[in-house]
Amino acid sequence: MKRIAVMTSGGDAPGMNAAIRAVVRYGIKKGLEVYGIKRGYAGLLDEEIEPLSFASVGGIMEKGGTILRTSRCPEFVMKETRAEAAKILKRHGIDGLVVIGGEGSMHGAMFLAEEQKIPVIGVPGTIDNDIAMTDMSIGVDTCLNTVVDAIQKLKDTASSHERAFIIEVMGRSSGYIATVSGLVTGAEAIIVPEVPVNYEELSNRLLQERERGKINCIVVVAEGAASAYTVARHLEHRIGYETRITILGHIQRGGSPTAFDRLLASRMGVAAVDALLNGETSVMTALQGGKIVTVPLADVLKEKKKLDLHLLELAGLLS
Ligand code: ADP
Repeated sequence: MKRIAVMTSGGDAPGMNAAIRAVVRYGIKKGLEVYGIKRGYAGLLDEEIEPLSFASVGGIMEKGGTILRTSRCPEFVMKETRAEAAKILKRHGIDGLVVIGGEGSMHGAMFLAEEQKIPVIGVPGTIDNDIAMTDMSIGVDTCLNTVVDAIQKLKDTASSHERAFIIEVMGRSSGYIATVSGLVTGAEAIIVPEVPVNYEELSNRLLQERERGKINCIVVVAEGAASAYTVARHLEHRIGYETRITILGHIQRGGSPTAFDRLLASRMGVAAVDALLNGETSVMTALQGGKIVTVPLADVLKEKKKLDLHLLELAGLLS
């Protein structure tokens, strides 16, 4: 193996730059030439491929987003498109590829590896923590910290005015961000896509808590479960006090990565290069019980990552 390439694809996540830096610097130290592919699979098809030097990735670890930029490339679901991508990689002399991205990107990586016989290693980067077989993906921790910071600020104003705050956070199919941010801010209720919500029961509980003297009322809802507007509509007439809605939106994707994400990304970037050098392909780097391992992409994509319902129980017990 002489020349490898790295790309970021799908939704951006803080820490992706730290992973790029690790792939580039460790790759070069191992005697490889490392190329960057701009704008994910779309940039690959447009041949936006350029060499990266040790110095070119200096000062990027602390930056959110991705210096390689990212994109969605719907036509990549077609075999002919992937065959074209493989041809381009071969023409550029690239013998191995590292794809940093979410679940969709991992699908693309698996097909490129298995059907086009290109050695590909996936690195999980997504704020949703919805990728199976890894305890955490790059970007989750930074996102959580952003959400916690925002909820904490809203809590100050919520308790001053005795209003209920409904806060919508990201998570289309996963309630992880809502659950953990709700747990660590002591939210009164957490609504996630994995568990059906009973508004009657929820309102009664909130009313009882208010009668017992609780002045805070924070409800965290994952976007995939319901919109904050829907939750407010269901609750307001039942609880009889004012609600305020906050949709955190894209601020959850931004910001300088936390120490945890920088470390995870650095470890995974190095592990991805090692995997290529060891002749592995169609695997993903994963964090399991504190260790970085590689797991087959086929296994990762077979199952949906399950939300640990104990965390929800714990949140309920402690709030
Ligand atoms: P993420 O990687 O953050 O989950 P997407 O789901 O949008 O984001 O996927 C990113 C890109 O990965 C898509 O635009 C497409 O190019 C590729 N991709 C997604 N799903 C597949 C699939 N089933 N087969 C091949 N490529 C896919």
